[in-house]
Amino acid sequence: MSRDVLLLVDHRDGAPEPVTQQLVDQARGLVGEAGSVSALLLCGEGSGVATHLQGIGLDAIQCIESALLDVYNPELTARLAAEAIRRLEPDLFLCAHTFQGMEVAPWVAASLQLPLLPNCLELRPEGDELVAERLVHGQAWQASLRCSWNGTIVASMARSGGSSTREAGDEETRIEHLDIDPGSLAVHTTVTESIRPVEGQVDISRAEVVVGAGRGVRDQSNLAVVEGLAKALGGVVACSRPLVDLEWMPYEQQVGASGKTIRPRVYIACGISGAAQHLAGITDAGLIIAINQDANAPIFRVAHYGVVADLLQVVPELEAQARRRRGSDH
Ligand SMILES: Cc1cc2nc3c(=O)[nH]c(=O)nc-3n(C[C@H](O)[C@H](O)[C@H](O)COP(=O)(O)OP(=O)(O)OC[C@H]3O[C@@H](n4cnc5c(N)ncnc54)[C@H](O)[C@@H]3O)c2cc1C
Repeated sequence: MSRDVLLLVDHRDGAPEPVTQQLVDQARGLVGEAGSVSALLLCGEGSGVATHLQGIGLDAIQCIESALLDVYNPELTARLAAEAIRRLEPDLFLCAHTFQGMEVAPWVAASLQLPLLPNCLELRPEGDELVAERLVHGQAWQASLRCSWNGTIVASMARSGGSSTREAGDEETRIEHLDIDPGSLAVHTTVTESIRPVEGQVDISRAEVVVGAGRGVRDQSNLAVVEGLAKALGGVVACSRPLVDLEWMPYEQQVGASGKTIRPRVYIACGISGAAQHLAGITDAGLIIAINQDANAPIFRVAHYGVVADLLQVVPELEAQARRRRGSDH
């Protein structure tokens, strides 16, 4: 039996979020070549997002373009997605578990009274059921959820962090304009302002190298040590929540469940214990290096490399090494 997946495209500044390729690959793995994988693209007029969706393995792009979609409005997005599902009747409506997916997927499931499988690591069909694997209890346990698959299911996928093995193709994906007028929907929420990071402000969610400071830095003045390493590596500084609570660092630099998700090539955690809420923000990091003086700190369970030592001794030495390798003493 062939299945159809409709996936919601999360996009910013005219380009899909990098997680889109992961979503397409997972959807294709789920339904195979016999099934179909379409994207639901809700965007402002002339946004150019559709051109980035060519050659990534989609069968079709279902598009709604409107000036009303220039700025992301969660309620409008959810109402349009629900209307698109009513018309297209996919077997699966798939979102990435991004801020958008976290808002839209539950809203759509509730409004259409559909089953919801949120934040899944994996989805697989088994007979007439769809089985989801997901982490529960602060990511300490993994649970399998079974859902009978005889109508549309709504699901969101956790970001896996791995890169796609798929070669970019040159096949042209057809664009179909869905005849749904965003202006005709009764939307109660108005987005009055959308605040962008100010020029020069650190965006830890996009940095390639992130050095994280935790309560182990002990004193605000010691943050300079962590900043020194980040600078020597061409990276940025992030932090655990206690440093934000202490007002040593701005909220924008907090990593974790109630902060930002980062996906750097390298994350160096300095004096961070590795609480589940912090780890939730670093699952997409390529390489994790932890420096902690407690050999039993939970961060070492997820770190690829670990140093059991006082960060105030190790970090300046790492900075000096990094500067020597880069041929700069500044
Ligand atoms: C609802 C909720 C949401 C939360 N959201 C987040 C979130 O988004 N992000 C987040 O980070 N936390 C979050 N937390 C808090 C989280 O539970 C932890 O309390 C927090 O992550 C701990 O931060 P830490 O590792 O910096 O501090 P600690 O747990 O105090 O760890 C400090 C570590 O530093 C080590 N250390 C001390 N001195 C040194 C030294 N000189 N050299 C090397 N190592 C040293 C210690 O061995 C220890 O492991 C949340 C909590 C709740 C309840």
